Parts: sequence; structure tokens; C-alpha cells
Amino acid sequence: MDKTDIKALNLQELTSFLTELGEKGFRAKQIYQWLHVRQVQSFCEMTNIPKALIQKLEEQCVLTALKIEAVQVSKQDGTRKYLFALADGNVIESVLMRYKHGNSVCISSQVGCRMGCRFCASTLDGLVRGLTPSEMLDQIYRIGCDIGERISNVVVMGTGEPLDNFDNLLRFIELLCDENGLHISQRNVTVSTCGIVPRMRELADRKLQITLALSLHAASQEKRQGLMPVANRYALPEVMEACRYYFAQTGRRVTFEYSLVAGVNDTAEDAEGLSALVAGMNCHINLIPVNPISERKYRQPDGRAVVEFKNKLEKNGRNVTIRREMGRDIDGACGQLRKRYVRNLQEREEG
Ligand code: SAH
Repeated sequence: MDKTDIKALNLQELTSFLTELGEKGFRAKQIYQWLHVRQVQSFCEMTNIPKALIQKLEEQCVLTALKIEAVQVSKQDGTRKYLFALADGNVIESVLMRYKHGNSVCISSQVGCRMGCRFCASTLDGLVRGLTPSEMLDQIYRIGCDIGERISNVVVMGTGEPLDNFDNLLRFIELLCDENGLHISQRNVTVSTCGIVPRMRELADRKLQITLALSLHAASQEKRQGLMPVANRYALPEVMEACRYYFAQTGRRVTFEYSLVAGVNDTAEDAEGLSALVAGMNCHINLIPVNPISERKYRQPDGRAVVEFKNKLEKNGRNVTIRREMGRDIDGACGQLRKRYVRNLQEREEG
């Protein structure tokens, strides 16, 4: 029999689980606190739980606890990149960004990714598997414990396509925002998608207060297809309609992410196209100079071109920011730390 992943249960399920073991209901709240507030890494740390029950839990449950494999710290802005080892030996990456308004963690939702975006390092080796809700949560818990500070914002923008791991994502958000746990406000959670239309609509129907970010990267279907294979499955008009639907259902304005690639999507014409595409929408545009990866030829436009692109959008009345690049000095694009680690391992095994 598979062991129960205890950190993926909500309080109600944990209560039923314990009742079935013949335990009293109040134990559920105690254990839930140990897991999600104190964020312990083993059952034996639960000091107000009787030994006999701890033994039962150890027999029947797994307690997901990620291991910090490596940390890179930026000397410029205190950004910290974490490499975590999962129980099955896979590794994932998460990033802590420190802002004036609080600590923000960017988590991975999958090991690898199968979306194939041309400029992205995380997708080069394909998808290994989706992360469990507890593996998503524990990235935040471990980082919070490591720095000894509260995490107030979470962005699901690391490796993976969150809407390709939909049920686990929803459970993760439920637990993350639960008042009995870490209790992060839904408004402080952002989920970024490459545009899986049916799932965007399903998410909208849940009427959560989280922010949806759409990776747009081009204002025409043709250009988008050249950058993102997912565009072959869901055409731009459908994707935009799903964004409008998200706003209609939730009242939350959508963020559009637009990675600027020199000579590909950074012309004045592109800026006009983007302006027109989002006309009349209550939205925000986030410009990100593309982070070059060694496997592809994509380059960033120079700083002036980025500002010109932004100015053009602003002149048209669009709401736009250039994403501050955090941790430039520890960089390499998203997913590079994990990739380097995996490659090193492979070389060691081959050598
Ligand atoms: N799969 C989701 C979330 C993970 S990617 C999505 O596509 O939105 C998070 C964001 O980083 C996306 O907007 C993605 O397009 C962008 N991104 C990936 N690689 C990048 C790179 N090398 N430079 C700039 N942005 C990149």
C-alpha cells in the first residue's frame, strides 16, 4: 500500500485520516500546525504528539521534506537561488527575491517541462514529472526556515507549466492560503501560464483571487508560433478571450509577460501590435529582456530599445513595467542551475 503524503492533506482530510486510525480529532489541528506553521521535517519533532501516534504516522505516511542541495546568493540584491533534492533523486530550482514590500518566492511546478518554448532552458530536456502539492509547498517552507523570515508572496513561475499539473496546483494553493497554515493571501499568489486555454477557463471558474500571468511574448499568432509551440494548439484570439474570461470571473486584472528578444519581437511595430491586442483590457504588461541561454541564439535588445518599447506602450495608455532583473550575478537563465547540476552528475557517471 502506498503511504499517505500527509503534507498534501487539508485539515478535513487529515481529521478523517486520524479518526480512521482511532485518534481524537484535536490531534489533526496539532499535527497540521507542526506541518504547515512550524514546518517540521520529521515526525519526531512533534513534541506534543504521543510516541505511539508518531510511530503510526511514521509507518503509514511520508513527510515530504526537500533537501537543500545548493544555494547561490547574489551580492547585488540578496536574491537566493536554491537547488532542492526531491526524495526520488530529482532536483528542482526555486528563487527567493527580497523586495521592500516583502519576501517573494518563485517556485517550480514540475521537474522539467514539455511546453517547448524556444527561449527557455527548463524545457530543453522535456518533462520528467509534475510536482506534488507538498513538494510545491515545501520549497516555500524550506526557504522561509532557511532565512528565518516570513514569505509573503509566491509566484509559480519557475520550471514547469503549472496548468499542466492542474489538480496538484489547486491543492497547493488551497494549502498555501489556508488560514490554519502559512496563510498567504490569494492576492499575493501569481500563477504564470504559457496559455493552456481550457485550464485557464477552469481556473477562472474557481473564482480564486490569485493573479493570472499569461506568457504572451508576441502580439501576432504567427510570431507567437515561432517562439512557443503551445501556440499551435491554442490560437492567440482564444488565449486572449480566456484572459478576458479570467477577469470577468474573478475581477483580477491579468498580467501579460513579454520577453523582449532582439530582432524578433522588439520593433516599434511589435509595440503597436501589443498595444492594440490588449486595448480595452484591464491588464498589466511586464517586459522582460530575454535571458540568453547557451543552446539558442536569442539576444536581449539593448537597454535603449527596451525603454523605447515601453514608452511606446505607455504613450498608448498601456500599463507597463520593465521587470527588474534580480540576481543578475548568480544568473544564467531560469533553470540553468538545475541543468548544470544534472549535466555534472551525468558526466560524473559517464566518466
Ligand atoms: N510555464 C509557465 C511558467 C514558467 S516560465 C509559463 O510559461 O508562463 C516563467 C516565465 O519566464 C514565462 O513567462 C516564460 O516565458 C519566461 N521565460 C522562460 N525562459 C526565459 C528566458 N530565457 N528569458 C526570459 N523569460 C523567460
